[in-house]
Amino acid sequence: MQFDDEFFLHDLRVDVLRSADGRPMVCRHDEGDYFTVTDDDLLNFPTGKPFPIFPLAALLPLLAAKARELHPNDWMATDTDIACPDPNCGGVFRISQGTRRSYRHSEQTLAPLRRSK
Ligand SMILES: [Zn+2]
Repeated sequence: MQFDDEFFLHDLRVDVLRSADGRPMVCRHDEGDYFTVTDDDLLNFPTGKPFPIFPLAALLPLLAAKARELHPNDWMATDTDIACPDPNCGGVFRISQGTRRSYRHSEQTLAPLRRSK
């Protein structure tokens, strides 16, 4: 028997911006660099330019949450700009939601779906 196990996630785009205070970027990312997250969990670097791992490590925990539809009162739904984890770096990363895609629980995991009663 087929049951509805559809859910939605947004593709993401992460853009590198310069901080408002004008500090230089000391990591190897530049204003205008970007990467995307598509098809649930695929990182894409469309320009082919390398991206430093320390800022990426700081961003990764946020991406799964930012891809989801959040309560409008949730701070995660409104705060889009993340400072670079290097305190001397003026880099800022803006996370934007893109295309909303449909997925099926049964196609993403082998764990059983729990139904509320
Ligand atoms: Zn940086």
